[in-house]
Amino acid sequence: MDIRINLDRLKEDIESLSQIGRDPKGGITRPSFSKTDLEARDWLKEKIKNAGLALRQDGAGNIFGRLEGKGKTIMAGSHIDTVINGGKFDGSVGVLSALECMRRIKEEGLPFSKPLELASFTDEEGNLVGDFLGSRAFTGLLNRDFLEKGLTQFGTALTEILNRTEFTIDSIMDAHQQRPDIEAFLEIHIEQGPVLETENKPIGIVDCIAGKRYRWCCFLGKASHSGTTPFELRHDAFLGLADFALKSTQYVATKHYGNMVTIGKVNVRPGAFSIVPSQADFSLDFRSTSKETLEELEKSLFALAEDVASTRGLKFTSKIVDKTDPVSIPPRIIDIMKEECEKLGYPFMILPSGAGHDAQILASVAEAGMIFIPCLDGISHSPQEMIKWEDLEKAANLLLHVLLRLASSS
Ligand SMILES: [Zn+2]
Repeated sequence: MDIRINLDRLKEDIESLSQIGRDPKGGITRPSFSKTDLEARDWLKEKIKNAGLALRQDGAGNIFGRLEGKGKTIMAGSHIDTVINGGKFDGSVGVLSALECMRRIKEEGLPFSKPLELASFTDEEGNLVGDFLGSRAFTGLLNRDFLEKGLTQFGTALTEILNRTEFTIDSIMDAHQQRPDIEAFLEIHIEQGPVLETENKPIGIVDCIAGKRYRWCCFLGKASHSGTTPFELRHDAFLGLADFALKSTQYVATKHYGNMVTIGKVNVRPGAFSIVPSQADFSLDFRSTSKETLEELEKSLFALAEDVASTRGLKFTSKIVDKTDPVSIPPRIIDIMKEECEKLGYPFMILPSGAGHDAQILASVAEAGMIFIPCLDGISHSPQEMIKWEDLEKAANLLLHVLLRLASSS
């Protein structure tokens, strides 16, 4: 079937959504349930209605547009929330490509038998409490205690932010009860890394999504005067952290190459130039596409931290903030994507996703699949985020053909 998406229309949608939440400091700031996000939601709902899709919203604010059919739903989408000062492609390409595909299917009267549904999930970026609030609510994977006690990154309780919306913790917890049976969930996303661009491939078919452990850790020592305390009598929490940062990276790079460990946020206290630091708090993020490796890393990185602590006269503590398990994409979905890509004549490569996505959460209730497109220099979560429109056109055409095939097969 020689059917293609309308790139001009898709481009116009992406540009028009990117006007909502323009930040004077650069890029787009549209965290879920902010004023700008509420505006973007209204914009998307209008688009869904104008496309002739049945509009639906669940108790977590996830937005859907549906074409009715028989059997389990074939779903595609992503998210329209952004990080603070984010780019215009992360998330939006997934939602708006799905919208464009469904518009083409409807306007051409293309045959399909199963229901097709577009999905836009709340707070994928984790500006509120943990990542994937919407998709976790949708799949029934949320913990009420976490929602009630968790603080958002704005320092407020989630309930305070919900007050400006029609949603409550109860409605979020119940959102999964409104979920239809889903056969497959497909998501187009920017790669957020440099591999496709380096390999000069317009399309990446994802074969697995890395799992993650995010912990908040601390080395505790003793504050003392920088001029009078000899090195051997110091309990320098920052040196403990520096030592651990180097050793943990070296360990993962030599014993588990291909897996990741990152210390991205550090607070050193008391934070004065003339005082030996007594406390070093830091985030510890480690990722792997293998659950066994994640568990092994958890044990060995802890042993390493304890070792550094005891050598340097420090105390080490750690608590889990967030975790996701790795997901393998079903071979059936990968094969269909490969076949349709070949039919369309598009070069592609198979690659893992090091970043987490809604598709990873949806994998607990459906066969999940992901299509990546390159982003310039691998940059994402930044006003500099950029893609080539012709890459998005190919990915959206691929999505269209995969959707039609899945929705027609018995
Ligand atoms: Zn995203």
